[in-house]
This record gives sequence, structure tokens and C-alpha cells, in this order.
Amino acid sequence: MQKKSTPRRTLAQRPEEIRTERPRPDWPSDGLIFNRDCTECPRLAAFLAQGRAEYPRYYCLPVPPFGDPNARVVIVGLAPGFHGANATGRPFTGDHAGLLLYRTLHRFGFASRPESLAADDGLRLIDLRITNGVKCVPPENKPLPAEIRQCNHYLAAELAALPARSVLVALGSVGHNAALQALGIKATKYKFAHAAEHQLPDGRTLIDSYHCSRYNTQTRRLTDEMFEAIFARAAELIRRER
Ligand code: SF4
Repeated sequence: MQKKSTPRRTLAQRPEEIRTERPRPDWPSDGLIFNRDCTECPRLAAFLAQGRAEYPRYYCLPVPPFGDPNARVVIVGLAPGFHGANATGRPFTGDHAGLLLYRTLHRFGFASRPESLAADDGLRLIDLRITNGVKCVPPENKPLPAEIRQCNHYLAAELAALPARSVLVALGSVGHNAALQALGIKATKYKFAHAAEHQLPDGRTLIDSYHCSRYNTQTRRLTDEMFEAIFARAAELIRRER
């Protein structure tokens, strides 16, 4: 029998305030930038189908980008977490990784509130959007290289639609590589390192950060101060562009 990739957790164990309703994505499912019906990765489509059967209240579809369509700061993450974005339909919402992220965004004026509770909670992002290199939750949080490549056309279309000279913040090396691939740049040209700042040929700046995952924050590989410094720098860069 095949081992289940994601440990089961009953809905009763979820925090009361997390709601798992089907959201109305703020970015239309246009098939170019985002397609809620995409099944281009068979392994991920099957995993989502399994998730829908086991957790009928979960969103369990490709997760749309969230935030300002004209943002000058764009966060590129890895992929939805099973009990987080995959459950709620909004990136970094419903699990540990979003706690530090939204608190930090609010601190630097990029979010209207310091926490994200549900896709319809009224939270607004200001001059910032959040997207993932892979839009569907992967088993064990590990997309295959072929899945990262397959999903990249959505990220490429999204970045092309955003303002030129925007600041990209990559969370982790997968986000870093996905952002470069989406811009047609070889990943080997710019090495991932926390707080590294890369000037890209099209005028954009790419800032790297360790991912704000539970593992990284609990081991203090990533502290609040380290993460805040990333967004302080992003805010400084867009201020200079005004
Ligand atoms: S990961 Fe991306 S390309 Fe693959 S099925 Fe999901 S939305 Fe489609």
C-alpha cells in the first residue's frame, strides 16, 4: 500500500480562526497568469484530488497569487503548504510560515494588517504581491524539478505583467531559481545566499532570503531581525525609485 505523503490532521485540530472556504481569487483565472483548473503536473493534480477527498473543506486547487496587481515588490515563494495555503486558498495563510511574513509586511507598510486569517478576511497588500514558483501543493513540500519547470510559465507571465524595475524577494533557493528562470536568466549566474542582492539585466533587483518556514524560524536560522532587514531593504529600494 502506498504511504500517505501528508500526515492526516483532523479539522478539529485546526486553529478556530482559520477558515477554509473557497475564496474568490483577486487575480482572475485567465489561463495565462493563473489557471485554477490547471492539471499540467499529473502527480500534483492527483495529490490535490486525494486532498479534496480527504479534506472536503480545503481549497485544494492551484493557489492564486495574492496582492496588488501593480506591485513594485513581489515575493516569490516555493509552493503552498498542505494545511496552509492549500487549505485556505491564499499564499502563506493558515500555517506557521505566514505568521512572521504578514507581521513583517505590516511593519513595513506592505500589509493592512499583521495577520492573514482567511482568503476573505479583507486583508490588503500594499504595493506588494505574493506568488509561488509552484502553484499546487507538492507531497512533502517538495516539488520535482520537472514540476518547477512546468509551472514556470505562469510565473513568467505574471512577472512580465508587473511594473518594470520591480524588486523581487525570493524566499529560499527554489523561489530564487524560479524567479530567474521566469526572467530567462540561467540560475547559475546568480547564487542564492541569504540577504544577497542581485542586479538583474532588465533593471529589477532580486533579494534573497531564507524561507520563513517553521524549521528555519524555530532553529533561528532565520530570525525576525534578519527577515525584517530584507523588507527594510525592499522598502528602501522602491522609495528610491519614486
Ligand atoms: S504546479 Fe503549476 S503547472 Fe503544475 S498543475 Fe499546478 S498550476 Fe499547473
